[in-house]
Amino acid sequence: MDTRDAIRARPGEWSQLTHTYARDVPALSVPWPAVRFPDPRVLGRNDDLGVGPVELPTLVGDGVDTRALAYAGHQWGVYKPRLGDGRALLAGELPDGRDLHLKGIGPTPFSRGLDGRAAVGPMLREYLFGEAMHALGIPTTRALAVVATGERIERDGRELPGAVLTRVAASHLRVGTFQYAAVSEPGSLRALADHAIARHFPDAARAVRPYRELFGRVVDAQAALVARWMLVGFVHGVMSTDNTTISGETIDYGPCAFMDAVDPATVFSSLDTTGRYAYAAQPEILRWNLARLAESLRPLDDVEDLVDEFPRTYERYWARGMAAKLGLSTPDAALATDLMALLHAQHVDFTTFFRALAAGTARDLFLDRAALDAWAVRRAPLVTAGRAAMDRVNPLYVPRNHVTDAALAAAEHGDLDPFHRLLAAVREPYVERPGLADLTRPGTGPHVTYCGT
Ligand code: AMP
Ligand code: MG
Repeated sequence: MDTRDAIRARPGEWSQLTHTYARDVPALSVPWPAVRFPDPRVLGRNDDLGVGPVELPTLVGDGVDTRALAYAGHQWGVYKPRLGDGRALLAGELPDGRDLHLKGIGPTPFSRGLDGRAAVGPMLREYLFGEAMHALGIPTTRALAVVATGERIERDGRELPGAVLTRVAASHLRVGTFQYAAVSEPGSLRALADHAIARHFPDAARAVRPYRELFGRVVDAQAALVARWMLVGFVHGVMSTDNTTISGETIDYGPCAFMDAVDPATVFSSLDTTGRYAYAAQPEILRWNLARLAESLRPLDDVEDLVDEFPRTYERYWARGMAAKLGLSTPDAALATDLMALLHAQHVDFTTFFRALAAGTARDLFLDRAALDAWAVRRAPLVTAGRAAMDRVNPLYVPRNHVTDAALAAAEHGDLDPFHRLLAAVREPYVERPGLADLTRPGTGPHVTYCGT
């Protein structure tokens, strides 16, 4: 098939998309047309999403009711009353209720003077990380396709190839959407909350206090999510409230990465000079973001006391997850916490450690072997799982920084083979295959992702 056919909407196909969001809360988005690009070319198409060919077109044709979503958000702790989709548009909702969203599709009323574009590298990165997270069992938005636009765009003084990412998400409701409604469109707040309930937690509608129930569900979903990030060493990088979903999915992969050597202060964003969004800071930042959601919901119900439950809920998910990683049937938070301190002190690679523990070779990773031995003596009587069971929860292949950077650099120059090789590896993260050993080696030196997203 000609790639142009694959990516251009054919008449009628988009009629399957609905807009319940625009219908329920019209004040929270604006109709806005997509830019048409002269020479689009498909770089990657995800056939694993259960989205049939009818919904596949990735660039928008005439007559499609695309909309830019309004939202606010705390970025780096500072409230921005009007962020919104500055370079993205909602094409609509698929028959199964998920959003189809296009990123890098041109300027909108929310662009604030920026170009509304996205570059090939960061959009392929979002595709790669979304697939990696999904394969790890972590809720996430996912790419349906990445399409090179044929344009060159400027980032940090460099000319880069432009791209549009089509992504599928449970929804694009964010903490920042509620902040925007509460502050700027208070008449829409209740309808927004009702929409969120109907979409993500329908049985909460029957609760005596549905908005309190909604908030409790979001707290639980986000506690589970951030625990899972911590359990794979994932650092999101920009946990602003507009990048925190109501659904509990990971969203907006910018300067994110998987940690190599354990260090609680690990950051990857060149902008994060204070460590606000560092690895170990993530649960507390999430709690802070949820407190902002609680404030926004205040006109509907008093939910702020539920914010205090977040740390306990998070700890429970984390300790349970660590128990599985360590081959224990009962959580032991002290054993897990002490291990993290030990891995930090000994600069041990996070991902490598758990596979080595299962294989019986963990001692080789430590300079101070006596320290590991003392910890292992505490673990030994609690172990119930063997190597195979541990390998099923501890990934071997994650998108490591040095490998990801090399693959994206090659893709920018037209060679997509390293990208597809890495994508295939992280899509099956637990099963060792021959010929992929280079993907499992930690990088050397600190890694920084510059915010040229
Ligand atoms: P992000 O860091 O990707 O979550 O984006 C934060 C905000 O900046 C959102 O409102 C984006 O729509 C907006 N934004 C980021 N890059 C661009 C761009 N190139 N053009 C217009 N808006 C942008
Ligand atoms: Mg964002």
